[in-house]
Amino acid sequence: MKALVKSKREPGLWLEEVVEPRPGINDVLIRVQRTGICGTDVHIDDWNDWARKTIPVPLVIGHEFVGEIVEVGSNVNDFHPGDIVSGEGHVVCGRCRNCLAGRRHLCAHSQGVGVNRPGAFAEYIALPMSNIWRHANSVDLDVAAIFDPFGNAVHTALSFPVSGEDVLITGAGPIGLMAAAVVCHAGARFVVITDLNPHRLKLAEKLGVTRALEARPSRLAQAQKDLGMTEGFDVGLEMSGSAQALREMLANMSHGAKIALLGIPDQDFAIDWRTVIFNMLTLKGIYGREMYETWYKMTVMLQSGLDIRPMITHQFPYAEYRAAFEVMRGGQCGKVILNWS
Ligand code: NAD
Ligand code: ZN
Repeated sequence: MKALVKSKREPGLWLEEVVEPRPGINDVLIRVQRTGICGTDVHIDDWNDWARKTIPVPLVIGHEFVGEIVEVGSNVNDFHPGDIVSGEGHVVCGRCRNCLAGRRHLCAHSQGVGVNRPGAFAEYIALPMSNIWRHANSVDLDVAAIFDPFGNAVHTALSFPVSGEDVLITGAGPIGLMAAAVVCHAGARFVVITDLNPHRLKLAEKLGVTRALEARPSRLAQAQKDLGMTEGFDVGLEMSGSAQALREMLANMSHGAKIALLGIPDQDFAIDWRTVIFNMLTLKGIYGREMYETWYKMTVMLQSGLDIRPMITHQFPYAEYRAAFEVMRGGQCGKVILNWS
């Protein structure tokens, strides 16, 4: 089969002919239809420090996908050929304390699809049945292809109650944009999002935010005044990985505010811990999705009218992956999809 492979320990990805995976007794085999490109895939292509330390070579990469089941292992009863499914990108151990207690997203030994084990940028992928989410019939295939990052957005956005609250989101990348749509849908009063990239701020406006602001000092304080806010934001969603963004967020939160942190900083940095302590802030790190509560919420919010399609901006056939990765690097985009059909 055709697959996008990290086959050399140097920058680049190569479209190669590789052996089609065979499903084990507890696995399903999926014919991949569409995939989403994640920042992680760009890092693997670039071969940055993290990728060099993490990625076994050769490896089929990619973890955001939708496809159709074509074969199931002999132990699999609940999935059938023809089902339209996505895969949870973290394969958990099933035996650690958290897994045994049903808190699988907190597994101490999770393996990443397309990071530690073969991924989805291929014509076929085999995954354990415990990693499969069957989509509702009504699902849009482009949206289904990005349930993985959509799940990051939903997990973060719904970590704290947002109904009737004022929410600040830093970073209007694909995940920040989806989180903005989610908190609007979930009944926040004001949703303010910041970014450095005007193109992304435009996309945020399409998704219905109250204010999309260029990240500049004092813009947030001014926005609070303009909106008639007096005590700061109640909930913060950090989705940029930027030190500056988190510092500005901390300075604009109400006493007792809650902050969920998804963005991954590329190095250590200092924050004003006195603000955290004196203002009694709660900070929560977020990794991945809750299995499978987040997946359930994504499915039903789409059925109750949530629309994240405006942030899907580009589509390419898989053979044009080079152009797709260049669009991602340029940043003049929301989500970029590769079509494998
Ligand atoms: P992205 O890189 O496309 O988006 C980040 C955005 O933040 C960009 O648009 C950038 O312009 C903006 N930004 C940079 N500095 C800023 C600042 N000072 N203020 C406001 N915005 C600023 O990434 P994405 O795919 O949307 O993912 C968002 C973040 O979440 C990334 O850091 C990514 O690494 C991380 N991530 C975490 C998980 C997890 O499980 N924790 C999973 C996926 C992605
Ligand atoms: Zn575990």
